Amino acid sequence: MNNDKRGSRNKKRSLIERLNLGPVICAEGFLFEIERRGYMASGEFVPMVSLEHPEALENLHKDFQHAGSDIVQAFTYNGHREKMKVIGKEDFLEPLNRAALKIAKKIADSPIDNEPNLMAGNISNSNIWNDKDPKTHLEVEKMFVEMVGWAVDEGADMLIGETFYYAEEAYKALEVMKKSGLPSVITIAPMGENIMRDGVSILDTCKKLEQLGGDVVGMNCFRGPATMMPYLKEIRKALKCHVAALPITFRTTEKNPTFFNLPDNNGCLCHTPHKTTFPTALDPMQVNRYEIGKFAKEAYDLGINYLGVCCGANPMLIREVAESVGLKVPASKYRENMSRHFMYGTHKRVAKHMRDYGDKA
Ligand SMILES: [Zn+2]
Repeated sequence: MNNDKRGSRNKKRSLIERLNLGPVICAEGFLFEIERRGYMASGEFVPMVSLEHPEALENLHKDFQHAGSDIVQAFTYNGHREKMKVIGKEDFLEPLNRAALKIAKKIADSPIDNEPNLMAGNISNSNIWNDKDPKTHLEVEKMFVEMVGWAVDEGADMLIGETFYYAEEAYKALEVMKKSGLPSVITIAPMGENIMRDGVSILDTCKKLEQLGGDVVGMNCFRGPATMMPYLKEIRKALKCHVAALPITFRTTEKNPTFFNLPDNNGCLCHTPHKTTFPTALDPMQVNRYEIGKFAKEAYDLGINYLGVCCGANPMLIREVAESVGLKVPASKYRENMSRHFMYGTHKRVAKHMRDYGDKA
């Protein structure tokens, strides 16, 4: 366990210092996990939780921190002006952002037994960017500028721009983030056509993001391990900067490269055809801890040091990512220990008649 690569309680190293020494873990996917915990409507997906149930958001961050996330990403995904307009709550935009940033900062600065975490401000896909309508570009830029401004104001250590499926929107996000002077992570999320929606290839988009000064460039969301890995290999080979890999936790396939069209009849026993598959019935296609661990190890062995999990992430999977690249985290204390299992255990008190029954159970 290369725990010595982690810093001390009193010193907060920068993102790049940490990446230069080894793996850095980042939990994402808060929309799904907060929805699962009962504090957000699926489909609407607005992180009002920072105002309505701040304690639930604090707990989410604490759980991921305990599981080994080095970064506490402020939960402002979808908390942008456009989405707030859609739900008629534009007045809550700034309070929501500031509350989410303050909560993330509080947890980042209260580490469990290690150096403080990094607090990350967050911007993401606007869903109004239209490559054929330059007016939307200005509107999106304004959204990025105000959110980055609040993040800087609230003491962010770094910024994450994520889930971009238009290349030009990602470039714009990076441009705005770079102006803050903070380390900037930029990750793209191409949809099922396996190309950015404005026609730029995945690899060319990443190359350009490196040229534009991205400190960490890579992929997050939409794709599970199987359909993200092939692109990560190309990206890692072509780029010199640090690379990021944060897949969703579902078994996407070549035929269904993203979770948007993943057929949910695959294992669902309710016998009711689901009209839409996203994202309320994907559970049977969830990857297990060993699959996510295998992905993280493979990525790390390729030279990808920024590792995490996006939609579908839970603390157990984040712990698995951390441990698969040799880290010991607070939650490692509770990793599975079959030696004491009542039937499959090896402890001398496990009765032979129970051990013998294991294959019939
Ligand atoms: Zn995601």
